[in-house]
Amino acid sequence: MKRQSRFIFLIIAISIIFAGTNIFLFHRYIGMVAGDAEIINNLGTIRGSIQRFTKLELSYLESNHVIKRIDYLFETYKDLNTPFLNQIYETWEELKIVASKHRNSPDNHNRKLLIEVSEECWEIADKAILENQYIAENKVGYLILPIVFLVFEFFFGLLLIFIVKKYVYDNLENFAAYDNLTKAHNRRYFIEYLNKEISRAERKGTTFSLIMFDIDRFKHINDTYGHSTGDEVLKTLINIVQKDLRKSDVLSRIGGEEFTILLPDAKIKEAVFTAERARKTIENYTFKDVGKVTVSFGVTIYQDGDIIDDMLKRADTALYLAKNGGRNRTETV
Ligand code: GH3
Ligand code: MG
Ligand code: MG
Repeated sequence: MKRQSRFIFLIIAISIIFAGTNIFLFHRYIGMVAGDAEIINNLGTIRGSIQRFTKLELSYLESNHVIKRIDYLFETYKDLNTPFLNQIYETWEELKIVASKHRNSPDNHNRKLLIEVSEECWEIADKAILENQYIAENKVGYLILPIVFLVFEFFFGLLLIFIVKKYVYDNLENFAAYDNLTKAHNRRYFIEYLNKEISRAERKGTTFSLIMFDIDRFKHINDTYGHSTGDEVLKTLINIVQKDLRKSDVLSRIGGEEFTILLPDAKIKEAVFTAERARKTIENYTFKDVGKVTVSFGVTIYQDGDIIDDMLKRADTALYLAKNGGRNRTETV
């Protein structure tokens, strides 16, 4: 995997971890707040039901259904660590006893006691509701962590978009600039580069040279060993040639088995030297399955007023001379 792809993979992995953590944190927060809302609601029901119970008792009316409801709510929440719940429960138990006494002897004393305990019960329930509301409101603090994660995720998202965009852009450029088989530059890139180099030479009075080369009797190689072996020869050959070039030299595949090397700032002698060095390296190399392969080279240098075609024509003529002169040689024009 390329370094850039690994980096994108890493950012995606981190984003997924952040997103997962965030979903978990938000889910936990919503669970906590939803639980609080339910408790506050039911404490309100207990508070109201105690009042109703007292009213029914004071009017000597049936109150069993209210008792059942309140007892059921206490049963449901008995294990919850809700503030004041135990206190309400104890007072409620006391209220039930006082109510029973009042039923048995409904005198002024018991009536007063019933009202007092009911009031006390109501007050504790009210306090419990306020306290629980306060706790719920303070849980907003728990939101900080998921929000921080959300901010991180946002920046990672932006980073990811930026990197992926750059990656796609870089690779599109690569795709547009290189030949797939040999990984040398393609013809389109070469023509653009040559054009730029001519402009630079015109503007700055610099010079540059151009080598054009073509494999000798390549048709024969294809015919004898097959097209895919021919492809392997092209790949290997370009690999060999590229190794000996300067960083600034531009190696391109301009046709099937025709290539160019553009040498910025090189005089003809240097270009011939480069061509000869490549020619000898190839001559001495033993290609897999095929054995020996030779190449002919044509070399030319930029001349004032040259346009692209002038240079290509001269390089082509030099190459033609090399072929005509017996191949596996370098000629200049
Ligand atoms: P010369 O010494 O005169 O250059 O002879 P040659 O046989 O190399 O010249 P010619 O132009 O007649 O043949 C070039 C051959 O290159 C023809 C074509 O089949 C082959 N060729 C062109 N592109 C490719 C390619 O991408 N892969 C392979 N395997 N062969 C290719
Ligand atoms: Mg050819
Ligand atoms: Mg050829």
